[in-house]
Amino acid sequence: MSKPDPVLEFNVWKIRQEFPMLHQTMHGKPFIYFDSAATSHKPRCVIDSLANFYREKYATVHRSLYDFASQATTLYNAVRKQVKDFLNAPFIEEIIFTRGTTDGINLVASSFGKAFVQRGDEIIISEMEHHSNILPWQFLCEERGAHLKVIPINDKGELLLDAYEKLLTDRTKIVAVAHMANATGTINPVEDIIKLAHAHGAKVLIDGAQAAAHMPVDVQRLGADFYAFSGHKAYGPTGIGVLFGKRALLERMPPYQGGGDMVDVVTLHSSSFQAPPLKFEAGTPMIGEVIGLGEAIAFIESIGRERMAAWEKELMEHATKRLHEIKGLKIIGSADRKGGLISFSIDGVHPLDIGTLLDIRGIAVRTGQLCAQPLLQRFHLSSMTRISFGVYNTFEEVDHFINDLKEVLLLLQPSLSY
Ligand code: PMP
Repeated sequence: MSKPDPVLEFNVWKIRQEFPMLHQTMHGKPFIYFDSAATSHKPRCVIDSLANFYREKYATVHRSLYDFASQATTLYNAVRKQVKDFLNAPFIEEIIFTRGTTDGINLVASSFGKAFVQRGDEIIISEMEHHSNILPWQFLCEERGAHLKVIPINDKGELLLDAYEKLLTDRTKIVAVAHMANATGTINPVEDIIKLAHAHGAKVLIDGAQAAAHMPVDVQRLGADFYAFSGHKAYGPTGIGVLFGKRALLERMPPYQGGGDMVDVVTLHSSSFQAPPLKFEAGTPMIGEVIGLGEAIAFIESIGRERMAAWEKELMEHATKRLHEIKGLKIIGSADRKGGLISFSIDGVHPLDIGTLLDIRGIAVRTGQLCAQPLLQRFHLSSMTRISFGVYNTFEEVDHFINDLKEVLLLLQPSLSY
């Protein structure tokens, strides 16, 4: 039997029915949402699970014996197993619930840094990173007297692997790169990056914020030591994220924060801690949000990340082709492997004007520095416009957007014709 075509099988109209926000209007116009790289909308199952939990099942976890508390604990623990399977992690103890990608990266920078980084050691990031995968490493370098090295990129927005190889030394302790870049859409060859790092004894953190809900992720196949993502970009609630970490490393890392739930024995002058993952989860966790994340993962798996990736890639390719109709428009990021987002700049037009005029037409795009100032500096830009897709976007929306963009540009540059 031949393999079914993932895109032909895909019923986006049915999927859209599950997203109440997509049926809203903005400034009285049908809402077109092209900002899923910032945050995705939520399917009904996620919204309902949050409401049901708070309305009918709410209780704390891990602490109390009564029925509601033990039911909540069962639901909560089941999601950890679900996330383990979602990432194909070997052990459930390797899944830490965080507040999001930013929190996960800060956790690793702080805790791995304390355990393993000494004065004169080196940390490698890349030129295309989100600020969340830059600042925690800058803080760590300042604190420990380590050096931050940066993998450069080419004009297509791809990492220069030869340059990366030259940056690696026996003093490299950790390499932190995005699986998919939020500003260029570049999908990095993380398997190769990890292999090279491991050959030098360095560990690797993958920032999966833009990848986890948009392509299959298998931490064992990748060989990642750490993998972080955010629930809210994966059709789940805000305030919840995941950090995968290899058990052997987590066991050697000190707690990130102190508080309830992460302790074993506490006296007034010293304490001992739980084993991972609880060692890294101080305080009452985001119980409802974890349960909502479980629903989001079930939603993603009901469609399949391969099909989602194929659909979003087709949208991206269609939009790229149509954007090329616009004079003076330059796409930032044309990597051979690219996910469902496009950033662009247009000669003589400020992205803020584009964003404002599209907003009035009901179209949500991202404008500005995209939390990636070094990437913008690399391309000599002060801001860009980005459109980014989710599983619910359609070709019709892309065409509608292109027509409106042309109208907006005519308003801003009346001397041009499109
Ligand atoms: N890394 C990348 C690549 C991102 O796109 C984002 C969010 N824009 C983050 C990290 C940070 O994610 P969060 O704000 O959910 O912690």
